[in-house]
Amino acid sequence: MQPSSASEQPGAASGTRRLVSLIIPMYNEADALDALFARLDAVLPELADYDFEVVCVNDGSSDGTVAALEAHCTNPGDSFTRRALVVVDLSRNFGKEAALSAGLHVAAGDAVIPIDADLQDPPEVISELLAKWRDGFEVVLARRSDRSTDSAAKRLTARAFYRVHNAVADVRIPDDVGDFRLMDRVVVEALKALPESRRFMKGLFAWVGFRTATVEYKRDPRSAGSSKFNTWKLWNFALEGIASFSISPLRIWTYIGLLVASVAMAWGGWIALRTLIWGVDVPGYASLLVAVLFIGGLQLIGIGMIGEYLGRTFVESKRRPPFLVRRVLRSGGLKS
Ligand code: UDP
Ligand code: MG
Repeated sequence: MQPSSASEQPGAASGTRRLVSLIIPMYNEADALDALFARLDAVLPELADYDFEVVCVNDGSSDGTVAALEAHCTNPGDSFTRRALVVVDLSRNFGKEAALSAGLHVAAGDAVIPIDADLQDPPEVISELLAKWRDGFEVVLARRSDRSTDSAAKRLTARAFYRVHNAVADVRIPDDVGDFRLMDRVVVEALKALPESRRFMKGLFAWVGFRTATVEYKRDPRSAGSSKFNTWKLWNFALEGIASFSISPLRIWTYIGLLVASVAMAWGGWIALRTLIWGVDVPGYASLLVAVLFIGGLQLIGIGMIGEYLGRTFVESKRRPPFLVRRVLRSGGLKS
């Protein structure tokens, strides 16, 4: 963690007003924008002890999201949220993880809260997050105590993911906790200092640690539009998480290899013995083929796993930035 100057930690001393940054990644969320800003307008002014900035990251939307954000910036009117608006416009769609990273780099707050644009993370919970922060916690997780608005399939696969991930990975990801959380400036600086360009944020958040508290909330249904994650994307996301935080999938092949070799040796011994006692027995074509295909399949899976990690090393070795910013717009209405 290396803040470059003291001025990067505004208001950290007690007594001064503290700035809180919301980070909202947006990919084609034009339909959800009005409802989002209306809800924030109802919630944020109530939290009068804090200043806010609302960092909206446009993740290469192809609908009217960026035009709407730009209009809000130039015409803030008396909307609290619009006056606190910072728009980070990325050069293309980099994915939610990269969009969050971009938001973390631009956010200036003493605390930072990533929150989805679709109101699935209710802004009312922010006051509870802030209360725990005031108690001295550096990370305050918002845990989905009730996921009944997610489909049964999504709940089941999410559960399976947390199980598998936490069984094999070096860092434990808390169950049912998404990106919605509060992080103190020290945590944000730690995250910014992590060099990897493929960023699985849930894992990175867990990896940095810090004093952590949890509040519970009920996950609401999406306010408008549709989910940006299909089954294939989620599957790849899960693989990304496991491959980023564990080398168990590589190591397991040593054990599988040992097991298969031992079974083959024992079986070979048995065949030799059988031949000595009963003589040569020709049938066995089917079992031979099954064994050959099975071992071939295992080898391909093993090579695939190695390829997964090799690909990752290849991508990291190019040291490309995780995102590119076209421009940052700030609402004229409020200092940020
Ligand atoms: N999102 C993004 N880039 C993407 C996909 C999603 O910035 O490539 C944003 C999206 O606009 C939303 C948040 O990530 O604010 C969560 O997405 P979504 O609600 O579609 O995910 P779900 O809640 O279905 O998991
Ligand atoms: Mg959502």
